[in-house]
Amino acid sequence: MSKLCIDAKDLKIHFPLKSGMFQKKRVLKAVDGVSFSIEAGSTMGLVGESGCGKTTVGRSLLRLYEIQEGGQIIFDGADISRFTDQQMMPYRKRMQMIFQDPYTSLDPRKTVAGIVSEPLLAMNIMKGKDAQDRVREMVELVGLKADHLSRYPHEFSGGQRQRIGIARALVANPEFIVCDEPISALDVSIQAQVINILEELQDKFGFTYLFISHDLSMVRHISHQVGVMYLGNLIEYAEVDELYENMVHPYTKCLMSAVPAADPVQNRERQRIILQGDVPSPIDPPSGCPFRTRCKYCMDICAEKKPELVRVNEKHMVACHLAGK
Ligand code: SF4
Repeated sequence: MSKLCIDAKDLKIHFPLKSGMFQKKRVLKAVDGVSFSIEAGSTMGLVGESGCGKTTVGRSLLRLYEIQEGGQIIFDGADISRFTDQQMMPYRKRMQMIFQDPYTSLDPRKTVAGIVSEPLLAMNIMKGKDAQDRVREMVELVGLKADHLSRYPHEFSGGQRQRIGIARALVANPEFIVCDEPISALDVSIQAQVINILEELQDKFGFTYLFISHDLSMVRHISHQVGVMYLGNLIEYAEVDELYENMVHPYTKCLMSAVPAADPVQNRERQRIILQGDVPSPIDPPSGCPFRTRCKYCMDICAEKKPELVRVNEKHMVACHLAGK
C-alpha cells in the first residue's frame, strides 16, 4: 500500500449555538463521525449537496477548526488533531487551501506579488530576493507572466484570479492541498483550464488533493477516489470508477442520476431520481440513518440504528442497512 498523506478517523465538528438561559443547549452537527484516508499523490473528490459538511471537513483537515467533539487527523503519520498553534507551525506550510471564489479570496489592495508572497512572509519561510524569485517561479508555473506581478486582482479575469490563488497555495511548497469548489465560480470554458493546471502540478510535484465540488463529472475526471456526504456524514466512499458504476447508497443514486451521460441514447433512457423533501437540519438530525426521512427504502431499523460505513468490496464502502442484502 502507498503511503498515506491524510487519515481522518471518526471526525466530529459540532458548533454550539446560542441559547437562552432556560433553553436546552443546542449544537449544529456540521460533521458527525467522518472517516477516510487519502494516499500521497492522489486526489479524493468530496461531493454532496450544499451544507452537507464538505467544506467543514476540508477546513478541519487543515486544523482551521478545533477538533473538540472527537476524532483524529493523522497527517504524514503525525496525529495533529489537538496540536497547539505552535505545534502546527511546521505543518501549516505543508497544507494549503485553494478557495472557491477567486473574486473575494484575493485582497484587492495588494498586487499579485504581494498576494502570492503572503504565505512565505507569514510563515517566515523566505524573504527578500529569494522570496521574489520564488513568487515569480510560481506565477509562471500557473501560466501567468512575470509582468503580471505588479498588477491588482481587478485587472484579471476569473480564471486568471484562480491561477493567482493556486500560485499562493503552492508558493510554500505544500504536500496536501484542499481545493474547495475551485471551479464553481468560473465560466465553463475556464473550468477545464484550472483542472488541467491542478493535474499537471500533481503529476510534476506529487501533490495530494482533497477536491470538493458539486460538479460530479469534473470530480470523476480528476479524482482517484470519491466520498459522498449527506448531513455531516460520509455515506459512501470508493475508488472513482467503482463508485460511478456500482453505487450502492440510495442517496448516491439520486445524485448520480442527475449527471448527463456522454451517450445521448443513454441520456434519453436514463431516469432522473427526484428526491422528495428537504435536507433535515443538522441542529436536529433524524435518529438512525441521516437519510431516512427522504429514503424510499426506509425500514424500521433505519430509525433505530445509524448505519456504519461497511466494506462492500476492497474498493468500496457504504453506510446503509441495505448493503449486502
Ligand atoms: Fe435508506 Fe435505511 Fe439505507 Fe438509510 S439505511 S439509506 S434509510 S435503506
